[in-house]
Amino acid sequence: MYDLVVRSRRTVLPEGTRPAAVAVGGSSIAAIEDYGGSLDARRDVDLGDLALLPGLVDSHVHVNEPGRTEWEGFATATRAAAAGGVTTICDMPLNSLPPTTSVIALEEKRAAAAGKCWVDVAFWGGAVPGNSGSLLPLHQAGVVGFKCFLIDSGVPEFPPLDADGLRSVLGSLAGLDALLIVHAEDGSQVTPASGRDFCAFVASRPPVAERRAIEKVVAAAAATGARAHIVHLSAAECVAMIAGAKAAGIRLSAETCPHYLFFAAEQVPDGATEFKSCPPIRDAVNREALWRGLEAGVIDCVVSDHSPCPPELKASGTGDFGAAWGGIASLQLGLSAVWTVARRRGRTLDDMARWMAAAPAALAGLPAKGRIAVGCDADLTAFDPEVSFVVDPARLQHRHQVTPYAGRALTGRVRQTWLRGIQLLDANSGAPDGEPAGQLLNRGSRA
Ligand SMILES: [Zn+2]
Repeated sequence: MYDLVVRSRRTVLPEGTRPAAVAVGGSSIAAIEDYGGSLDARRDVDLGDLALLPGLVDSHVHVNEPGRTEWEGFATATRAAAAGGVTTICDMPLNSLPPTTSVIALEEKRAAAAGKCWVDVAFWGGAVPGNSGSLLPLHQAGVVGFKCFLIDSGVPEFPPLDADGLRSVLGSLAGLDALLIVHAEDGSQVTPASGRDFCAFVASRPPVAERRAIEKVVAAAAATGARAHIVHLSAAECVAMIAGAKAAGIRLSAETCPHYLFFAAEQVPDGATEFKSCPPIRDAVNREALWRGLEAGVIDCVVSDHSPCPPELKASGTGDFGAAWGGIASLQLGLSAVWTVARRRGRTLDDMARWMAAAPAALAGLPAKGRIAVGCDADLTAFDPEVSFVVDPARLQHRHQVTPYAGRALTGRVRQTWLRGIQLLDANSGAPDGEPAGQLLNRGSRA
């Protein structure tokens, strides 16, 4: 007798999409059978033509709690994740206070998160000047890897590494086989921006800033043999360099974000600071080239870089791109935003599951996540790939409703989410219902 069976004619399995029945025993996937197979279960859900995806894994989320919980917090971020079909998030080490640059800070963060998470949460550690002695203890405490900046991070308590610091950290992490994820912009190529002109803001952070920083990462990864990952790649001209580094055997990977794949700079109105991110959304030609890098497998995954703040810090009143916080809120909308464009390009749900579930789970070292496979956690998302809807900010579970997707027509809607076999969403409202059952994960953890 299984606890749950979920059937779908479009079940997205690692080997492809087919009609199947997913049987859940306890918190994990116990069997995958034929769609119409007779399976004895306490609960049997037939999704029919709705797709069944693995629960998404978003390896790039800024939760900001403790310390800046008024920007976003574990309760609100994980509610938004659940509503968006995301069953695991990896929390970034900065924008919370303290930043996660020591084991004590990690313990504070875990204490702040305990009991309020609607989905599972893993943690990145931070690599900053002066905390080299904390890398091994943080690794042993279960962080999924380390984040560093090569440019001002936007918050003073999380300073960037210089080229020597980058090489030194990668040298330390190589011995642990730990991953370093890098915010790759070169400050010497960036100029200050101000005013309401979006094009001027984009020009202040040109592609060459990303290129110069990624060159440093490639060189340091090559010299040390360490694993490095480029977060939120925006400048598509860097795709060729990343492809070349991979081909040369350098252990490099890269992600991009829904906003770089969905929006183009030409469409952003002046003063619309909800579109501000660093690096910036670039033009439509760049967007097309990013898609090709993703489709070619050079870019490994698509994750949100959800980084909200209160509306007043987004400079919504003045529309000044210099004053506004650089971060885009999209945790609940990433799947629909990417699918809206992907399906027009002839991509499939298999691609979506690889880019937004399997690849980020592998990146973060979470073997029980990101796949519908026997033995994995029963994290599942029911998704209607054909329905269209207009984004109503009032339906967002994020702490703040500011998002560039407001009023946009998107295709594909999350209908239900299960975390380790627990149904998360109220069928009518689409909002999380019941009690938060998310767990705090360590690297490599299995159910
Ligand atoms: Zn980020």
